Amino acid sequence: MAGIYLHIPFCKTRCIYCDFYSTTKIKEKDHYISALCKELRTRKLYLENEPVETIYFGGGTPSQLSLKDFEKVFRTIEETYGLDQCKEITLEANPDDLHPEYIKEISSLPFNRISIGIQTFNDQVLCLLKRRHTSAQAIQAINDCRSAGFQNISIDLMYGLPEENRKSWEADLKQAIDLNVEHISAYHLIYEEGTPLYEMLCKQIVKEVDEESSVDFFDLMIEKLTKAGFQHYEISNFCLPGKYSQHNSSYWTGKKYLGCGPSAHSYNGDTRQWNVSSLDQYITKVEAGIPFFDTENLNITTRYNDYVITSLRTMWGLSLTHLKDTFGSELHQYCLKNAEIYLKTGKLEIQNNILFLSKEGIFISDGIMSSLLWVEN
Ligand code: SF4
Repeated sequence: MAGIYLHIPFCKTRCIYCDFYSTTKIKEKDHYISALCKELRTRKLYLENEPVETIYFGGGTPSQLSLKDFEKVFRTIEETYGLDQCKEITLEANPDDLHPEYIKEISSLPFNRISIGIQTFNDQVLCLLKRRHTSAQAIQAINDCRSAGFQNISIDLMYGLPEENRKSWEADLKQAIDLNVEHISAYHLIYEEGTPLYEMLCKQIVKEVDEESSVDFFDLMIEKLTKAGFQHYEISNFCLPGKYSQHNSSYWTGKKYLGCGPSAHSYNGDTRQWNVSSLDQYITKVEAGIPFFDTENLNITTRYNDYVITSLRTMWGLSLTHLKDTFGSELHQYCLKNAEIYLKTGKLEIQNNILFLSKEGIFISDGIMSSLLWVEN
């Protein structure tokens, strides 16, 4: 089983913290949709004929596309890969695009999951971050999607925002829980170099939250969301039972995926590929039929490292049996030897031959994962 990711690189305006590849050149949309459909047709063999079970329109802002654009892309996917076996088709959307007429249009398409970029319900912070919606619009958008029949709604939140304190983060979590959504992704704000927000940090216009507060916010999030019935199934992701993101989980469980559009990544177990991060170059190269992606061939140690990084982040954990069978005794022993210190200190646990991060381990997950990685001498 495999997945398809479609990167829709258009944004009406740029949020000041964002370092994803996106552009405001919406006038290129028609050209882009044609190039995207061509990529879908020409890279079919990358998935080695595995049936496609998840499709994810991410961005950028996929809700900048029109009904006609989506129909064209879905027609291409149906003709090239088929949609029969597809269990989950997600649209990432911004609240300001989700007006009732648009929701009606997208609900006529094969989407069965919608992921809404909310970030916070604090209007002042939304304004500071140059998001294009208000808290009221976000709440209205969720309610309208629900009324239109969407039964699987996810929202994105951010924490560690400028001026955030325990009380304001708790208010965001409460509002999120009250909306009765099926899935919540929550990421700590990162001040990425090169973004306007990073500049503001350097000029001391905004201040980073301290480490103690970050840990406290993370702890509070786990406490509030699990108490509300959410499963903490991946470091930054929570869902009601059974409602985990099947598409994103396929990244963490080693399934094949094809990523189309500028900056999209693909993986099929043997190689990893990444498309050029430029809309103009992407369109020109796809149209001319010349290579628009780089490739890395994966050897046993890069595949072992991928397995460690992806499996440990999830509640399903790292299967030591799978590790031994797939990567051999040497890497199995190497993993256990490096895990020893964390097992002794209770940061890692083993149950039924599966290695997990403990609650304390989640706080230092990056450090634990990197010490289990194989480093070439
Ligand atoms: S809408 Fe999303 S992709 Fe676009 S600038 Fe904002 S955060 Fe980045």
